[in-house]
Amino acid sequence: MDERLTTIKGIGPGREKQLHKLGITNVTSLLTYFPRSYEDRRTIYRIGELKSGMTGGVMGNVIAVQEKRPRPRLSILEVVIADGTGPLKIVLFNQGYKKNFYKKGQRLYAYGKAEFQYGAMQMNTPQIENLGDGGEPDRGIVPIYALADGVSQFVVRSSVRNWFAANHELQEILPAEVREAHQYMSRYDAFKMMHFPASSERYEEARHQLAYEELFVMQSGLALLRNKEQCHKGSKMGPNGDLMAQCIENLPFSLTGDQQRALEDIRIDMEDERPMQRLLQGDVGSGKTVVATLSLLKAIENGYQGALMAPTEILAAQHYEGITEVCRNLGITIELLTGSTTKKEKERIYEGLADGSINMIIGTHALIQEGVNFHNLGLVIIDEQHRFGVEQRARLQQKGTYPHVLIMTATPIPRTMTLSVYGDLAVSLIKEMPPGRKPVKTYAVDSSYKERLRNFFGKEMAEGRQVYVVCPLVEESEKLDLQAAEELYLELKEYFYKAYEVGLVHGRMKPSEKDEVMNAFHKGDISLLVSTTVIEVGVNVPNATIMCIEGAERFGLSQLHQLRGRVGRGSHQSYCILVSDSKNDVSQERLKLMEQTQDGFELAEQDLLLRGSGQLFGLAQSGLPDLRVANIIKDIEILVQARKDVLDFASQHGMEKLESVMKEELEKRFGEKFLRILYN
Ligand code: ADP
Ligand code: MG
Repeated sequence: MDERLTTIKGIGPGREKQLHKLGITNVTSLLTYFPRSYEDRRTIYRIGELKSGMTGGVMGNVIAVQEKRPRPRLSILEVVIADGTGPLKIVLFNQGYKKNFYKKGQRLYAYGKAEFQYGAMQMNTPQIENLGDGGEPDRGIVPIYALADGVSQFVVRSSVRNWFAANHELQEILPAEVREAHQYMSRYDAFKMMHFPASSERYEEARHQLAYEELFVMQSGLALLRNKEQCHKGSKMGPNGDLMAQCIENLPFSLTGDQQRALEDIRIDMEDERPMQRLLQGDVGSGKTVVATLSLLKAIENGYQGALMAPTEILAAQHYEGITEVCRNLGITIELLTGSTTKKEKERIYEGLADGSINMIIGTHALIQEGVNFHNLGLVIIDEQHRFGVEQRARLQQKGTYPHVLIMTATPIPRTMTLSVYGDLAVSLIKEMPPGRKPVKTYAVDSSYKERLRNFFGKEMAEGRQVYVVCPLVEESEKLDLQAAEELYLELKEYFYKAYEVGLVHGRMKPSEKDEVMNAFHKGDISLLVSTTVIEVGVNVPNATIMCIEGAERFGLSQLHQLRGRVGRGSHQSYCILVSDSKNDVSQERLKLMEQTQDGFELAEQDLLLRGSGQLFGLAQSGLPDLRVANIIKDIEILVQARKDVLDFASQHGMEKLESVMKEELEKRFGEKFLRILYN
C-alpha cells in the first residue's frame, strides 16, 4: 500500500508535487487524506427551482461578469450564470483578482446557499467549479478536501478516484473474527465510502468502522505494552511503617481526605507484587508532592530505593528542598541529581545509588542517563507527566527490576485520554484543595489596560506581594518573542525604577542563571518577575498574588490554568489577568471560560474540543500515532468497545497471537520508538 503516487493513473511528477503540498507522499497517505466535508450533488437543481434559503448546486453558463467597489477596501465580484430557467448572481467578496478568471459563455457549477435579494436569486461565496466546455460536474456525494495553494479539488478527487478504479482490494487489518462479529464491510469499501459515500448511512458505517480500526490498533499496542510491564513480578511491599508516620508528624498541616485516599490507593498497589501503574491527577496546588513523598518513604522503609523525576532543574531543586525539609530527622539519605550537578558529585551519587546508601534520589532527565544504576529501585515517581514521553518513562522504569510507577500530573487528563493513551492506567484524583485557598479572581482585558495594570502591580507590591508577568514564547520565532520579553522587562524595570526590583527569566538562560533569578524571586529579592513560560510548572512562591499573562490567546486553556495555579497559594487574595487583543471569537470564548471557571477538568475538556487532542499534553511526544478518523471525545463508546474486544481477543487467543496479528500495523503506525520499548 505504500506505493508511490505516480503509480496512480493521471499522476505525473507535477501532480505528485502538488499532492506533496498537502502532506500526501504515498498511496497510504492519499487514502487516509479524508475529506474535510462533503457536498450533496445527488440532485443538481435548475436555477428556476432554487428557493431562498435552500442549499444546493446548479450549473449554468456565465452571462455577465462585473466588479463593483462600493467602498475603498471592498471589492464585490458578481458573476451571473443562467441555465434557461433563470439567472443566478454569484457574489464573491474581495476576490477582484478573479475578474479575468470568469469569462462569458464559460460553464460553471456552483454550490451554496441560495438567497433572494434585491429582486434576484443569488449565492454568496459558493463553491465554484469550472467545468470547461460542456463538462459535467461530479455527481453523488462529493468529497471536499482541505487544499493548499495551487492544488485543486479536482486533483485530489481524481487521484483518489483513479486509485479506486484500478484497485479492488485493500489488505485487512483487523482479525477476521472481529470483523465478522461487527459485520464490517471490507476495508476497501470502508475507505471508498469515506471518499465517495453512497449515502449518509453508508458513510456513517464506514467512519465508525475506520474509527474502530484505528482505536483497535492503538489499544492493541497499549495492551501489549502493558502486558510486558505487568507480567513481571515487582517489589511487593509490607505495610505502612514508622517513617511515613514520622513524616506525617513533621508536616505543618494535616492531610486532606483526597490525599489520604490517594495514599490508600497507592498502599494497596505497592503491597501487590504486580508493579503499580498509577496516575495521580490533581490540580495545581492540590498537594501532590506530599503524597509522592510519603509513597517514597513507604518504598524506603521496605528496604527499597525511591526516585522522583521532574521535568526542570528548578522544579527538581524545589522538590529536593521541600522533601528534605519534611524528611528531616528521619535518618534517610536524599540526593539531588540534575544536569548541573558537578562531575565529582555525580560520581559520588552514582556510587551511592549503586550500593544502596542513597535512599531517595530526586532529579531531572539526568536520572535516566547511562551510568545511573540502582541497588534496588522499588518506586519511580514522575512529576508533570506530560513533559515526558513514553520512551523516557520506560527508560527510568528499566533502571529497576520492574519498580512501581506513579505518574503525577496537574494537567487534568480526561478519562477519555487516560483510556486512550494508557489503556486502563489506574487513576487517583485529588480534587479537594488544601483548606484556606481562595479562588483566583480572573479578568480578561485588552492592552488598553496597560496603565491601570501597572498601577495595580504597584499597589500589590506596596503591600509586600509579588507579581508574575508572562510573555508567550513560541518555538517558531523564539528570537522575536525573547525580544518582546526583554523589552517588556526593560519597560517595567524603568517604570518601577528604585521602587521595586524587576527580574527576567527566560528559556534561553543557562540553568544556573535561571535558578539564580528564581531563587531571588523565591526569597522576595525580586518583586516582579517577567518570564517566558518557563515558570509553567511547579514553582511555589506563596507570596505571589498576581499572574499577568500577555498574549493570552496564544496559550491553551490548560496551560493558562497551570499558570494561574502559580498564584493563590498563600492566604492573600490573588488575581490572574489575561491580556489579549485578539478579536477572534474562539479566543474570546476561551478567555471568558477562564474568567468563569476554576475547574481544571472542565477547562481541559474544553481545550480538547477547541484545540484537538494533540495539544492537551503532547500526544505527539507520547509516542502514540495520530488519530485520523476517531475523535477521542466523541468516539469514547467506540474506544471502550475496541478496548474490550482487544482484551477479549487476547484472553481467548493469548497475547502472542494478538501481537502476531497486529505487529505489522503497529509497526506502521506507532513507529520505531514505541516498538523498541515493546520489544527490547
Ligand atoms: P501540586 O499538587 O501542584 O504539586 P504542591 O504539592 O506543591 O502542589 O502543594 C502546594 C502547596 O500546598 C504546598 O505549599 C504544600 O505544602 C501545601 N499543602 C499540601 N497539602 C496540604 C494540606 N493538606 N493542607 C495544607 N497545605 C497543604
Ligand atoms: Mg507539583
